[in-house]
Amino acid sequence: MQPKTAIIIGAGIAGCSSAYALAQRGIKVTLLERHEQIADEASGNPQAMLYPRLSGDDTASQFALAGYVYSLDLIAKLALDQADFHACGMLQLGFNDRELARIEKVAALAGAADYLQLLDQAEASQKAGIALLHPALHFPQAAWLKPKALCQRLLSHENIVLKTSINVSKVLKSKDVFEIYSGDNCIEKSEIVILTNANQAQHLGLNLHLKTQAVRGQLSLVRASAASLRLQSIVCSDGYLSPASDGLHSLGASFSSDPSTAIDALDHQSNLSKLNSYAETLYDSLKHKVQGGRVSFRCSSADYFPLLGELLDHQALSARPPRPNANAATLPWVKGLYSNLAHGSRGFTSAPLCAEILASLICQEDLPISHALASLLNPNRFILRQLGLKKLARSLATSTDRHE
Ligand SMILES: Cc1cc2nc3c(=O)[nH]c(=O)nc-3n(C[C@H](O)[C@H](O)[C@H](O)COP(=O)(O)OP(=O)(O)OC[C@H]3O[C@@H](n4cnc5c(N)ncnc54)[C@H](O)[C@@H]3O)c2cc1C
Repeated sequence: MQPKTAIIIGAGIAGCSSAYALAQRGIKVTLLERHEQIADEASGNPQAMLYPRLSGDDTASQFALAGYVYSLDLIAKLALDQADFHACGMLQLGFNDRELARIEKVAALAGAADYLQLLDQAEASQKAGIALLHPALHFPQAAWLKPKALCQRLLSHENIVLKTSINVSKVLKSKDVFEIYSGDNCIEKSEIVILTNANQAQHLGLNLHLKTQAVRGQLSLVRASAASLRLQSIVCSDGYLSPASDGLHSLGASFSSDPSTAIDALDHQSNLSKLNSYAETLYDSLKHKVQGGRVSFRCSSADYFPLLGELLDHQALSARPPRPNANAATLPWVKGLYSNLAHGSRGFTSAPLCAEILASLICQEDLPISHALASLLNPNRFILRQLGLKKLARSLATSTDRHE
């Protein structure tokens, strides 16, 4: 039976899109966020790029493409303001032998022409409006969007109550009900809890084996020049440059395990030198125009897929490991506890589709993706693999089998 209420912890794109997907099904959602504002951590950059990274016809590429198409459809349905969403297209450059081989392989896939095309260097430069040094894969529907605006739009639903400045300190399960604590006070109770608080999910006192990793990223905000205002589409190599919004380009982004939140001048240099490697003239016009930056932390899993679905009790599982052919119903589920986490570098492409999958799972509907794709996202895969139960990990998908 469909639940009537749910609590969601964390109001980034994963939390806001999960709240929306449940609210659309008539479930009353309370969304708790520790900051005064929503989308204030990884989801808080001024611009986010919406695009898939494909390598062929593998399951990872199928998932990336499904997420991309889903996010584009959702945004069209939400009718974001023009200032908040711009389908300017993206050029993914063949900037070295490996990337050139990748984009040529992707362009040759059956059906690829429906959503991308391969351009030579001259065509790519013409599409970009600036001189580029490489051929490129062009995604005409790719876009940049303002993350806060998208999150706000997702939350403007009568079934969603947002409570900000609430730092959830722990979640306890008492019989069938979860008690949500802030400090020492129990502030909410619910039979359904969804963890969308990225790297903090493993610090809520629950017996989980999430194994997520915080990956620092610094974006450089660059004042537009006369030359850079000609840029028409997002350009992407191992970094990216967006067309300007409000006079600023987003030039991204660095990757490191450094926990520092301070802006690092070397990271700005590294973002600029990536630009120099594919658009020298643009680099010359922008190299002294960095106005600032923003540091935040991606939440990544070891295999880069999100952690989506109902969760198992790590301690109970390790204390009494199941047989390889165990029936899913006999596993130690934390009934009612779900995650939508670990969206890595492309949360705006993956989180909305994951939210829809999760809502389908909670409401016992058919999933909007295949079992093969869903099994990539099984949030218990790492603990099951660690216990030598790879086959069980693969067969579980997001835990739908339990309900069959
Ligand atoms: C520099 C950089 C550039 C990026 N560029 C892109 C891009 O162009 N396109 C793209 O798709 N992706 C991009 N990403 C990745 C994208 O930002 C993330 O995948 C996405 O924002 C993750 O969303 P989330 O909701 O899972 O996490 P978050 O946005 O981090 O949200 C988690 C929320 O949980 C809250 N929270 C945490 N703990 C608690 C608690 N105990 N109680 C209450 N609330 C809590 C936090 O305050 C936060 O609001 C980029 C990331 C970085 C770092």
